Amino acid sequence: KPRHATNQLSTTCCYCGVGCGVLLHKEKNGSVTLEGNKDHPVNKGALCSKGLNLHHTVNDKTDRLLYPQMRYNKSMPMQRVSWDDALDRTAAVFKTFIDKYGPDSVAFYASGQCLTEEYYVINKLMKGFIGSNNIDTNSRLCMSSAVAAYKLALGEDSVPLCYEDIELADCFYVTGANPAWCHPILWRRVEAHKAANPNVKIIVVDPRVTDTVSVADLYLQLNPGTDITLNHAIGRVLIENGDIDLDFTTNHAEGFDAYSKLVFEKSVSEAAEICGVNEADIRLAAKYIGEAKGYIAMWTMGLNQSAIGVNKNLSLINLNLITGHIGKPGSGPLSLTGQPNAMGGREVGGLANLLPAHRDLGNPQHREEVQKFWGGTTISPKPGLSATEMFAALNDGRLKAIWILCTNPLTSMPNVRLVEDALKKAKFVVVQEITNKSESLAFADVILPAAAWAEKEGTMTNSERRISYLNKVLDAPGEALPDAEIICRFARKMGYKGFDFENNAAIYAEHARLTAKTNIDISGLSYELLKEHKTVQWPYKKKSPPKGTPRLFTDRKFYTPSQKAIIHPVPDTLTSEKPDTDFPFILTTGRIRDQWHTMSKTGKVNKLNQHYAQSFLEINPVDAGRLNINEGDVTVITSKRGSVQVKAKISPQIKQGVVFLPMHWGKILGNDLNRANNITSDKIDPISKEPDFKFCAVNVVKF
Ligand code: SF4
Repeated sequence: KPRHATNQLSTTCCYCGVGCGVLLHKEKNGSVTLEGNKDHPVNKGALCSKGLNLHHTVNDKTDRLLYPQMRYNKSMPMQRVSWDDALDRTAAVFKTFIDKYGPDSVAFYASGQCLTEEYYVINKLMKGFIGSNNIDTNSRLCMSSAVAAYKLALGEDSVPLCYEDIELADCFYVTGANPAWCHPILWRRVEAHKAANPNVKIIVVDPRVTDTVSVADLYLQLNPGTDITLNHAIGRVLIENGDIDLDFTTNHAEGFDAYSKLVFEKSVSEAAEICGVNEADIRLAAKYIGEAKGYIAMWTMGLNQSAIGVNKNLSLINLNLITGHIGKPGSGPLSLTGQPNAMGGREVGGLANLLPAHRDLGNPQHREEVQKFWGGTTISPKPGLSATEMFAALNDGRLKAIWILCTNPLTSMPNVRLVEDALKKAKFVVVQEITNKSESLAFADVILPAAAWAEKEGTMTNSERRISYLNKVLDAPGEALPDAEIICRFARKMGYKGFDFENNAAIYAEHARLTAKTNIDISGLSYELLKEHKTVQWPYKKKSPPKGTPRLFTDRKFYTPSQKAIIHPVPDTLTSEKPDTDFPFILTTGRIRDQWHTMSKTGKVNKLNQHYAQSFLEINPVDAGRLNINEGDVTVITSKRGSVQVKAKISPQIKQGVVFLPMHWGKILGNDLNRANNITSDKIDPISKEPDFKFCAVNVVKF
């Protein structure tokens, strides 16, 4: 426990979507120390390696941006300016483009790490006042396939269960996820539950043997991209065994007959052959699910980040629907949110195709409701540009100006060299950031310094719909301002009314009012109540119980027009870039245990850099032997889009024919040889627009 603590404030970890409670102690010397919050319902005091080291990122201010900067043209150097000068000029440039080329000539690219209040004002500014839906976030790279699938299957983007269901479940199907590394504290709960109840079954599906596999009762090392075939085969066996909930499929769901017909088109042995797994293991997975009283499916990027990501999600949710494992204790589909507040962003409609409180952009009545509430301009029915589409539009000149905040696209976007070209061609780039290390700064016309986590108050929502209040503990350094304040100041410079919020509590109150009478109604939840209850799960109406609503659909009424869940008979056709003789390997990318996203925070912590000090290529020993590659040899990995050079890590834990690169590294001292996204594919899912990070064709040679 930290000594000499003079001040203690609660907040929520700003990394993954688990949403662990943290207590920050402000020390007499101005630095902070921290500990896990023992009273927090999510983590009960535990923190993973990333969370435990958060205070180092707060205390180290050596890389912080301290004041606004601007250059008057691309050939001039950046110079320090006042906030008024920076925002006056930005407003003048935005107005010029909007007048000349229309509102769709400008865009905002934000982040799943923004606070809900920040998301709210950016979304209001762009959709309600500028008049374009060109506001997207890096949640597009993360959860948008799950969002679309929930909407198609359940009527809305609604995670039906809560973490307490983990302790009530007796079967877990974990696919396309490595929660032991990427959602560690939640996974500890699953492990503890299994340890206390050895009969609990854990099925893990992944082309790589990850740490998550270590507690699995059944591991299926499937071929990349064959998830739908596998899920359909399990569905078929469940039907064959009679392990379905006929009452649910008859009275509370639609589409079972078409689904049943589809999954019987392929035999289980054919499916096993396609997936590269044993038929007996498919049957055993179905047996475990079929015998379960409580069944939870967990997934994340392995299913989401795919050119067929929505269909993969739907094929998995179907297993919950045909077995009726939804809306009851210990059961349901649980998408593991990648970012800390991707869920909050979705609640305020912070993606290019959404409106606040899960309203539908395509619905004229919903657009009118929001427009009247905001009192701004008519909301366009046309979906805005998604993340990858924004950079394509900068490249071909449709988009003139982009405002990037709280995200690092030059490391995280697929086919990232096209993003570099796009930012070179952009007429005007605003970068709102905390760190002077962001690669986007090299392309900025205006740089706006932002307050970091713990330097501003606000709210976030985790993977189980739990809204948490985050205290401000420290002042931001220099002239840095909270993101919401920067956006509101800019909106006022543009001449828009409705951005005179006294503080974030006022923004939150407006957002809460806009949710009234919707399915995510939090109109009864004020900042005061939230501070009192610490965390609350939506919906929370005026007479809701203090903790909110842990579970949805307990009445088995869904948010679809028929109030029935929809079982979608989705095709299992893979549309990813296929390997060929020139590019014979499948590349999949992912995370390592101790780094978060593009390492702008975790990369500052020496302890965290010790896990893996540099990027690597994971390759199977058989493939490595054939290519004469030894452990530690430098390898060159090439796709149609570029190349990467990293050392080989030879591991039997990855399938033959598949190679893995971590996604965290960007340019180091101008050198981009470690940057996985030089070679990833910018193919996107046609519905969710989420990129295909987990599957592209590459060649590997020894350097
Ligand atoms: Fe933070 Fe996620 Fe680790 Fe919890 S599990 S401490 S939320 S990174």
